[in-house]
Amino acid sequence: MISPQLGARKPVCRMLPLWPGSIWRGGDIMQTRQAALKTSIATVSIAGDFREKLSAISRAGYTGIEIFEQDFVGYDGSPVDVGWLVGDYGLEIMLFQPFRDFEGLPEPYRSRAFDRAERKFDLMNDLGVDLVLVCSNISPAALGGIDRAANDFAELGERAKAKNIRIGYEALAWGRHINDHRDAWEVVRRADHSNVGIILDSFHTLGRKIDPDSIRSIPGDKIFFVQLADAPKIDMDLFYWSRHFRNMPGEGDLAVVDFMRAVAATGYHGPLSLEIFNDQFRGGSPLTIARDGHRSLVSLMDDVRRLEPDIHFDVAPMPPRSRCHGFEFIEFTSNEQEAEELASMLRALGFELAGNHVSKRVARWCQGDINILINTDEAGFAHSAYQTHGTSVCDMALRVDDAADTIARARELGAKIVKAADIADELSIPAIKGVGDGIVRFIDGDSELARLWDVDFKAVKGNATFVGVGLRSIDHLAQTMKYEEMLTWTLFYTSIFDADKVAMVDVVDPGGLVRSRAIQNKSGKLRITLNGAENQNTLAGRFIKQTVGATVQHIAFGCADIFATAEQLSQRGFETLLMSANYYDDLGARFGLEESFLSRLKDLNILYDEDENGNFFQLYSRPWGDELFFEIVQRDDGYEGYGAANAPFRIAAQKRDLA
Ligand code: MG
Ligand code: MG
Repeated sequence: MISPQLGARKPVCRMLPLWPGSIWRGGDIMQTRQAALKTSIATVSIAGDFREKLSAISRAGYTGIEIFEQDFVGYDGSPVDVGWLVGDYGLEIMLFQPFRDFEGLPEPYRSRAFDRAERKFDLMNDLGVDLVLVCSNISPAALGGIDRAANDFAELGERAKAKNIRIGYEALAWGRHINDHRDAWEVVRRADHSNVGIILDSFHTLGRKIDPDSIRSIPGDKIFFVQLADAPKIDMDLFYWSRHFRNMPGEGDLAVVDFMRAVAATGYHGPLSLEIFNDQFRGGSPLTIARDGHRSLVSLMDDVRRLEPDIHFDVAPMPPRSRCHGFEFIEFTSNEQEAEELASMLRALGFELAGNHVSKRVARWCQGDINILINTDEAGFAHSAYQTHGTSVCDMALRVDDAADTIARARELGAKIVKAADIADELSIPAIKGVGDGIVRFIDGDSELARLWDVDFKAVKGNATFVGVGLRSIDHLAQTMKYEEMLTWTLFYTSIFDADKVAMVDVVDPGGLVRSRAIQNKSGKLRITLNGAENQNTLAGRFIKQTVGATVQHIAFGCADIFATAEQLSQRGFETLLMSANYYDDLGARFGLEESFLSRLKDLNILYDEDENGNFFQLYSRPWGDELFFEIVQRDDGYEGYGAANAPFRIAAQKRDLA
């Protein structure tokens, strides 16, 4: 319902706020004042009915919206009511769109297009929005010609001015005559009307591989609005690509940062708006998608602020992306009985009990640089995670340069900060919520946190002579999720950490497709693979179902000599996943391996892969509990992958084992 107070307000047209600090003189900004960053999202970008969309957009922290007429045709209220409703959610309507097939038409189409425009201007006044997006004409009737289009816009500008409306012209990448922002700018320049400007859309520029630096020559005050979208690199029809595969800046492969740097360099300080057409987003959670979008804008502007010295946006400063130096620990939650089974698995893997927590039932198992905790406490977060997911990884701690800075950056990016319980004589380790609501903690070398093992744990006397089976570190952690959550968590990791996303690969499971992508940093100390299951018939999909959304499905330990490690493991009674003879036949043929080498691999059930840099060896445990498993890898000479080529064989072996 419309509140009486707001209901009494008549929507009025808002002109662009004056910016008193900026004076254009000979194309240079003589004096600047930072303008508050205004964020917006097109309502078409997210799922839900109109109110659901507004609620999600408002909660995610945007300033306003781009409105599509089709968004409110289903809403039971007049355009004036729609304007009030948007205001009720604390949002501004920043753009009305789209107005199609306008410029360059012969009569009688031309007159009709002007009549249509006049009707939209009246509708916009009712809604309380003063800027309309006119996209370049795609109609076969359009005649083309820069001057013809410019004359049409000059006349439209005059009519718009009488109704306090501004016109923004956008070059669609598939426009009939105008499909490049440089031509759209020439039309706007020749139209030479105060109420006519250009609208830039990163997809249309970058999708057509137009150099974004060409934007730098457009005066900032003639850019009326900026739309941002990214997309994965796919070679396909531009229109289809745009309508189905756009995603949030940073989620795809386009140079959105370069585009935005060029925009910022013009002095533009208006709204930054997300216009995302994505099949997945239209069916996704409105709040998650809205929050991802907001995170992407904040992260993008932080990148731009660092790269472009004179931007005129007031962007909240935040620490740089956090540098990660590996995993400090991985914590399992469990009950007494399953904890004992897990402990014997770790023992077989060469781990030793190194200590116990001073006040909680948490055991620390160590080998090399690896710490695995098993938490059987019957209170606290770990216990509630156990009740939801069963025995599973509930917590991980990452070694970072600066834990406080990492938290500060994560907070700016909208991550959920975990409030630590203040327990006397115990460290409180700063943490955020990660994938599947699991906890991600940060430990650095400089602060008190470095003393974690001395303060919070009591050492257990171990076997002085036993040194494990050669496991040295955590090579990678594999997190399983629904396919539609992959972009969310890709953005989460790449916006908070100094890490890159690796191109997605398809892993064929007999039950369906699993998409896999790694997040990794340059040093290789942070490696997390995200595996997206499209259905519940795959091993990954079954894991999600059985654990009710636990995420860590396997932990891979790194070693230096996998043959020696495999020998020792078998002496300790470790049960290796048995690979089929067919796998080794295929492997031998694929790489032309020597018979003696191949039979060594086969005897120890070691998998092998190579890339242009080096070799990779893998060994798997049998699936355990809810199909959780361990992997042991040897990564030689800069091999960068994760053995994706072996995954179908590994999955088949696991399915045989489970059957
Ligand atoms: Mg657009
Ligand atoms: Mg792996």
